[in-house]
Amino acid sequence: MSFRALRASKTDQGVSVALTHLEPNDLMAGDVTIAVEWSTVNYKDGLALAGQRIIQTFPLTPGIDLAGTVTDSSDARYAVGDKVLVNGWGLSQTHDGGYAELARVPGDWVVPVPAASSTRDAMAIGTAGYTAMLAILALEHAGVAPGQGDVLVTGANGGVGSIAIALLSGLGHRVVASTGRREEEAYLKALGASEIIDRAELSAPGGMIQKERWAGAVDSVGSHTLANVLAQTRYRGAVAACGLAQGIDLPASVAPFILRNITLAGIDSVNAPQAARLEAWRRLASDLDVGKLASTVTEIGLAAVPDAAAAILAGRIRGRTLVNVKA
Ligand code: NDP
Repeated sequence: MSFRALRASKTDQGVSVALTHLEPNDLMAGDVTIAVEWSTVNYKDGLALAGQRIIQTFPLTPGIDLAGTVTDSSDARYAVGDKVLVNGWGLSQTHDGGYAELARVPGDWVVPVPAASSTRDAMAIGTAGYTAMLAILALEHAGVAPGQGDVLVTGANGGVGSIAIALLSGLGHRVVASTGRREEEAYLKALGASEIIDRAELSAPGGMIQKERWAGAVDSVGSHTLANVLAQTRYRGAVAACGLAQGIDLPASVAPFILRNITLAGIDSVNAPQAARLEAWRRLASDLDVGKLASTVTEIGLAAVPDAAAAILAGRIRGRTLVNVKA
């Protein structure tokens, strides 16, 4: 039976996207076939639909994450009816992703949806929330614990930022949120931020070592912002770098590393090993207040994905955009 899919094709201008119908024969190779219920719009999806060299083979179904129900499986770990999710790997790069009603993927990419969660909860968290959790696990690994001082979250209104705030405050940290949208102060405080700062404080070139402010930080912005955050991190503090919303550069010095013994932890959600994924999803199921999650979510249908993808690149999306693939 045919199924709906958003397909990206290469054009002279870049990438064009259209809603179309595919047949099961069109599915890519894999061990597990999934009736997709939910996907999401992440910054990387914005880049993909804008033709920014995320998609490596055409035509392709974009969407870097998905959750749904197994309809067929030759992998002994998964049976028909199982609720599963996929984040990253080849999705939207070399393999058809989440913006279709049916997907087939290698079994090694699949993660069970935590027992207490629905497929909708799993994608309300999505790649952004899972990345936020990987970042917090990295801070914990570096020794950052509640009570040591303020933890900064940059790109606070974004998907990663919003869920990082909710998680960190739930764990007992005092969270400072850096944002360019001060008008969202009430939203950020409801998520658990104790203090809001203007991102302009961090986005311009600064000194290589500055007044100590942060016991830890989750940064989804990069560039001068990350350089300033490193320069302001307290002795033996840690920063998890997961994004590039300001820029991919890092105009920093070694001073904070050799004078303050700070740690810079890199975060990659795409190729994270299965054990790290399972630990992140286990912690999300136990640590994230689902009530707070609700305030971050805007729900859209497949046809609205291209507009949402453009809006996320323009910094106009707050929190998480959940795609109801059946709508
Ligand atoms: P969002 O677009 O939802 O969030 C990014 C936020 O960054 C915006 O909401 C905005 O927050 C802030 N921002 C935007 N532009 C600028 C700018 N020019 N200067 C400073 N701040 C800016 O994206 P996601 O949360 O989905 O992703 C965040 C980043 O993390 C992206 O760069 C993404 O590519 C990366 N990422 C990396 C992953 C990995 O595996 N390493 C996985 C997931 C995401 P505000 O309005 O509050 O200032």
